Amino acid sequence: MTSTAATPGASRNASPYLYGEEAVAVSRVLETGQYGHTDVTEEFERRIAEFLGVPDAVAVMSGTAALHAALLAAEVGPGHEVVVPSMTFCATAQVILAVGATPRFVDIDPATLCVTDQLVLDAVTDRTRAVMPVLFGGRAVDLCRVRKELAARNVSIIEDAAHAFGSRYDSRRVGATGDLTCFSFGPIKNLTCGQGGIVVPRTRTEADTVRRIRLLGVVQSQAERAQATSYHVSSFGLRYQMSSINAAIGLAQLPHFEKAKTTRRILWRAYRRALAPLDRVTLVDVDPDRSVPHLCQVRVPRRDKVFAQMQARGIGVGVHYPPNHLQPAFAQWRRVLPATEQVAGEILTLPFHQHLTETDIDQVVTTLGQVLQTVGAASCARS
Ligand SMILES: *Cc1c(COP(=O)(O)O)cnc(C)c1O
Repeated sequence: MTSTAATPGASRNASPYLYGEEAVAVSRVLETGQYGHTDVTEEFERRIAEFLGVPDAVAVMSGTAALHAALLAAEVGPGHEVVVPSMTFCATAQVILAVGATPRFVDIDPATLCVTDQLVLDAVTDRTRAVMPVLFGGRAVDLCRVRKELAARNVSIIEDAAHAFGSRYDSRRVGATGDLTCFSFGPIKNLTCGQGGIVVPRTRTEADTVRRIRLLGVVQSQAERAQATSYHVSSFGLRYQMSSINAAIGLAQLPHFEKAKTTRRILWRAYRRALAPLDRVTLVDVDPDRSVPHLCQVRVPRRDKVFAQMQARGIGVGVHYPPNHLQPAFAQWRRVLPATEQVAGEILTLPFHQHLTETDIDQVVTTLGQVLQTVGAASCARS
């Protein structure tokens, strides 16, 4: 079944994709009159845990909430440092401030936009309590060579897998490596709940902590629930639950995930083929054999001009992301990050979503070739 949502083609760089059963699932939930954390939410958690091959997963209202709750569950707080790439969505850095810790921004491998074992290890100090690798574009980042050393130094790995739902390392899916992993099910992610996120905890204790946090720290017994004059606020918490309405959307999407995976891989490889002749364009490698690609990004000369010209020609290009260490909110923790600063002026996100056709991709790439010519950055003929 095709999507009932708007079909933006190449005019947008991202777009939600519906498989057709979401609206019915939502109306069914609306008719129940129960929109909070319900058994629909719990079913979504079970299905995701099953899909990932993990014993447990805890649903929350967003990827940001998942990252925040994960830091709290890993007992990261004031006085602690968290190693995080500057090249990520601002949410990854904001949650570090939310727990009162400080970000230690690290550089990336320009070919993948991901951190490497060595970059992480070099940034770890005695105050480091966590490392947050970002699985950029869907690419699995396995810090396997430093995992032991990080564990010995009491440093937790908290994966920002917002881009990487469905991606794999080797035989294991992202989320099933034993690290704390956070997914986002926001509108444009590989799987959407409208809004939503999930934490894959490492232990029962972490699972319990996230479950308490998401319901404002309120623990209610059956008897208390029946007796509305009383509830028990057991610990710190926030309104971070995933609504049954959002869970219903995710439950309707999940059975179609194989289609998302196939389509995203086909489209990404079509871009790779089409872009190959443009020799001043470097494609950011998301490792499509193992990942479910989330973004298609290139590095181009004169990016700002190329961006403006592409927009002017109706191609919905974007930039993921302006680096965090150069943002005013994080000025205190600024440091020199040469690769990040270099690629920040080169990266361009091409339209990439499941409404796209291979014809759209040819149009995007043809336009990119023309634009590179007009801005004086034409690809040189190969000699
Ligand atoms: C989307 C995203 C988040 C945040 O997820 P939300 O569901 O939007 O809160 C965090 N990190 C990255 C890399 C993201 O792309």
